[in-house]
Amino acid sequence: MALLFDLPAAPAVPVVGSDAAYPVRRVFCVGRNYAAHALELGNAVDREAPIWFTKAPSAICLSGADIPYPPGTDNCHYEMELVVAIGTPAFRVVPEAALDAVFGYACGLDLTRRDLQNAAKGKGYPWDTGKDFENGAVIAAITPAAQFAVEGQRIALARNGAVKQEGVLSDMIWSIPELIADLSCMYHLQPGDLIYTGTPAGVGPVVPGDLLEGSIEGLEPLHLTISAAE
Ligand code: MN
Repeated sequence: MALLFDLPAAPAVPVVGSDAAYPVRRVFCVGRNYAAHALELGNAVDREAPIWFTKAPSAICLSGADIPYPPGTDNCHYEMELVVAIGTPAFRVVPEAALDAVFGYACGLDLTRRDLQNAAKGKGYPWDTGKDFENGAVIAAITPAAQFAVEGQRIALARNGAVKQEGVLSDMIWSIPELIADLSCMYHLQPGDLIYTGTPAGVGPVVPGDLLEGSIEGLEPLHLTISAAE
């Protein structure tokens, strides 16, 4: 049957050392995965289960972009995160085998409309409008897994040259293998699935005119500028 109109192609992320890009199928995100960040937002730290939420692929924004300040918010926050890119199918995998499913790793920003998220949290409503919005999932080029191992690398974010977030990947409450194993019990993970793995302490607001620069040792850095709201 003919289609009434064409949809945009899937967003695609550059890959370090490759001419081919990584198309994005789904975007999964973890909340409260660094103890110091959970505490700064007034949340308890526990090891009950990872806190999952999703963003639509249409939220993907490539590093280097200049985006308008997001609509519908007066308190948009940066959250610097390690992103895991899935490269082979994974369903009900154990942590010991989970890294086999990883294609690579990238720097990412989980932009958050904190005012909308907090209002939803307070009422027990879904976080969707606080988390899933256009340009809300920023990502830099993906480094293939063979060239990077998640250990104690420093993760940091600077706003206008001043360091605001700092942490080490080994401080994650849920490790990358644990996250993949847990998620794979609820979804058939597929190539094209991204996992934003949570942010260290130091989150804060952005305003028009800001330059955000994110880094993780061993990965391509990320940068984003914010211009006036539409
Ligand atoms: Mn986050």
